[in-house]
Amino acid sequence: MKSFKYAFFEGKVIDLENAKISIMTNALQYGTGVFGGIRGYYDNEGKTLSIFRIRDHYKRFLSSIKLMGCAFPYTLDQLVEIHIDLAKKNSPTCNSYFRPFAYVGNTSLGPNLHNVTLDYALYMIPLEEYMPLGKGLSLMVSSWRRIGDNSIPARGKFCGAYLNSAFARKEANDNGFDEAILLSEHGHVCEGSAENLFIIRDGVLITPAPSDDILEGITRRTLLQIATDNDIPVIERSIDRSELYAADEVFLSGTGCQLAWVHAIDRRIISNEIGPISSKLRDEYFATVRGKVAKYNDWCTKVSV
Ligand code: PMP
Repeated sequence: MKSFKYAFFEGKVIDLENAKISIMTNALQYGTGVFGGIRGYYDNEGKTLSIFRIRDHYKRFLSSIKLMGCAFPYTLDQLVEIHIDLAKKNSPTCNSYFRPFAYVGNTSLGPNLHNVTLDYALYMIPLEEYMPLGKGLSLMVSSWRRIGDNSIPARGKFCGAYLNSAFARKEANDNGFDEAILLSEHGHVCEGSAENLFIIRDGVLITPAPSDDILEGITRRTLLQIATDNDIPVIERSIDRSELYAADEVFLSGTGCQLAWVHAIDRRIISNEIGPISSKLRDEYFATVRGKVAKYNDWCTKVSV
């Protein structure tokens, strides 16, 4: 994967190619880490990178670390500062994706979080589309279930939990679908492998509540706010599998995929083109993340690169 030259690693900015860890690293063996994913949108005219909801992303990152119960040497302000410094140092001229990563860097045997201080790394890559935006997605309901809150809490972005996502995504891809939808152990709809899910029925925007084993997505929160501000009724509640098939519109949201509309689920057609509410939200979202909507400008941190 193409990446930018510099990364933050073990307390300083170095060449990414030198940011290496041992194969004995605990996080590599047991998935004992936390990560994030943050986008920066490049503006060619102003030569700036508009970093979207940077503080909210790092708040969730620190909250995941708190769930793990480990010590971590960086504050929110320090994480933001490291992030902005790295963006300037790499000086991108394209849309970029940042990957913060806190992990158990020791090489001790056993999946132990007791008395552990996490290490920290940050790198960045160029990123345009993560999922195709031109066409509607074809999804399948996975036979794998989302891991419950009392197993590995979905509201934390824990490395090891993504094996669950990878199982579901593989099953979907092996069967010719673009992406999977995971159900909870209770049979309710949760989300995609790395995206939140929304349905629209009779003009109402519906998405699973945070207590339905989902990641509390920043894009999800953004779209709920945009919808509310545009007088689109919003409900956060459990969604049944059959409601997916009955929906007028369905889309996935996430930092990576942004807003990706769904054409079909389990071969039942949802819509043949992007629906009116999805389309409205997507246009507004794209303008928002680029700092073009005055009332949401606080969400954009513009960095001269
Ligand atoms: N759910 C999961 C499981 C994810 O990995 C992601 C990507 N971070 C999302 C939802 C979307 O979250 P966000 O909008 O914060 O990127």
